[in-house]
Amino acid sequence: MSLDTGFERRSLPLEYPFTIARGTQTEAEVVTVRIADDDGTVGVGGAAPSAHYGETVDTVTAVLPDLLAVVEEVGDPHQLERIERRMRETVRRNPAARCAVSIALHDLVATRLDLPLYRYWGLDPEETLETSYTIGLDDTATMREKTETAVERGFGTLKVKLGTDRDIEIVETIRSAAPDARLFVDANEAWSPREAVARIEALAEYDLEFVEQPVPAEDPEGLRYVYERSALPIAADESCIALPDIPRIADRCDIANLKLMKCGGLREAVRMIHAARAHGLEVMLGCMTESNASIAAACHLAPLLDYADLDGSLLLADDPYDGVPMPAGEIDLAGLDRPGTDAVLE
Ligand code: MG
Repeated sequence: MSLDTGFERRSLPLEYPFTIARGTQTEAEVVTVRIADDDGTVGVGGAAPSAHYGETVDTVTAVLPDLLAVVEEVGDPHQLERIERRMRETVRRNPAARCAVSIALHDLVATRLDLPLYRYWGLDPEETLETSYTIGLDDTATMREKTETAVERGFGTLKVKLGTDRDIEIVETIRSAAPDARLFVDANEAWSPREAVARIEALAEYDLEFVEQPVPAEDPEGLRYVYERSALPIAADESCIALPDIPRIADRCDIANLKLMKCGGLREAVRMIHAARAHGLEVMLGCMTESNASIAAACHLAPLLDYADLDGSLLLADDPYDGVPMPAGEIDLAGLDRPGTDAVLE
């Protein structure tokens, strides 16, 4: 079999400027990969590189020719383990670039088998869950407005970005604008360990489910300090990048927040999910600001998760890719009527 491959970069405007503790972005810079077989069946995947993890669209497009050469050389898209292993050997870092290829291959393979990707994995679409919708940092009045809009759109689970000197005021405001919502908060490494324990103590009265990444990933002892004293469950995101991180975080958090763009592929993500469970952790799958070219694939793993934070496409002004429907945040796998990931250019 011969495989035809290609890629293109795209800049996708966000609905609102998206601010977290370490900066603001107004566009999602992504790279879309396309892999076609002899019959013209096409798989699509996306890279949403994060500068925080050392990747940009330039680094992605620099290594994609080498990664796609591996795909073409192996030739059989069903050899997914072999291709992903050889990609890791070819380009050790660059997980978002490898991930785009992994997703495109899984989309192609499931489409060739005429199965939605969740059925290829053997998963039950009824065991899906609801994605959280993220409220980025802004002035408090704007955060209130965004929350009210999200509630009107039917989102029942909100994730609130923190890491400011107004954190308690923000959570108080959002809780009053969304009294019935499930609320998660994410400090994106902004607090010191002592500050984190005090903030979490104060935040606990607002009925939050967990606090994500309270302290810098470079301070694993700080994370343990917070975990041992925290009034709320702790999720690790920046501290949890790839498979070897799971045992390292297991005694200092409750929830592992995995992302395809951190770990470099769908098969590595599934290995991480099982490793996290073996270490007694709950599992969340998160995302970057990204299009359905990559988010749609993550949605198919929803039945394996405790928490889904897969709102990347929902944060775009207009996603050129169709994907798994998410009415009011519910990841509707049973509603899919196409094989593969369902990431189709609209
Ligand atoms: Mg996070």
